[in-house]
Amino acid sequence: KKITIAIDGHSSCGKSTMAKDLAREVGYVYVDTGAMYRSVTLYALRHNLFNADGSVKTAELEQQMPQIQISFKFNAETGRPDTYLNGECVEKEIRSLEVSNHVSPIAAVGFVRTAMVAQQQQMGKDKGVVMDGRDIGTTVFPDAELKIFVTASAEVRAQRRFDELKAKGMPADFDDILKNVQERDYIDSHREVSPLRKADDAIELDNSYMTIPEQKQWLMDRFKE
Ligand code: C5P
Repeated sequence: KKITIAIDGHSSCGKSTMAKDLAREVGYVYVDTGAMYRSVTLYALRHNLFNADGSVKTAELEQQMPQIQISFKFNAETGRPDTYLNGECVEKEIRSLEVSNHVSPIAAVGFVRTAMVAQQQQMGKDKGVVMDGRDIGTTVFPDAELKIFVTASAEVRAQRRFDELKAKGMPADFDDILKNVQERDYIDSHREVSPLRKADDAIELDNSYMTIPEQKQWLMDRFKE
């Protein structure tokens, strides 16, 4: 019998790698909800929907929300889903530091969250889904059978994002990334609408000193339990 798996945690804690690997191994659908908030952010950047101080032009964005369509398409080459914004593959663009620097205020907008959560619930309605984000175990699927809350120190997470960007040949500066990680931690856990927090029934994993295979094994063991 298929279940729903909710994986939440801070930015760059490695939860998406774990979630993707588990989904592939057990034949579940993987949904990266951060990619959805990142896509809305990319749209907002392209359409000049930020004020000079970095805040969101909410009235304009609300009007344009119906024009923002996000979808995922499985990429056979990478074995992972790519993110599409209005039919365009934006998988690479949404990982840039510019998007990372603007995503938290977008994710704090109530009507953005309402729209994303509704779409996520639709994507997971048949179970057999591994969803990763910030509020999956608390808001999107409070009844998920398996909930994991992943943590790691800010420095370890910044190093991981740095390595990831370098590996992709994208520009990266460790101090800028660390600053971004810390700022997002703060905004994500202090916003009014569904702040990042561990669901009461989630299992916590601090993976600061675990290798990827170790994390994968740990998650597989929880799945089998
Ligand atoms: O997971 P990722 O770092 O790609 O997420 C980008 C941003 O999207 C987070 O910093 C957070 O502000 C927002 N987010 C969210 N709720 C989710 C997933 C992501 O608010 N479920």
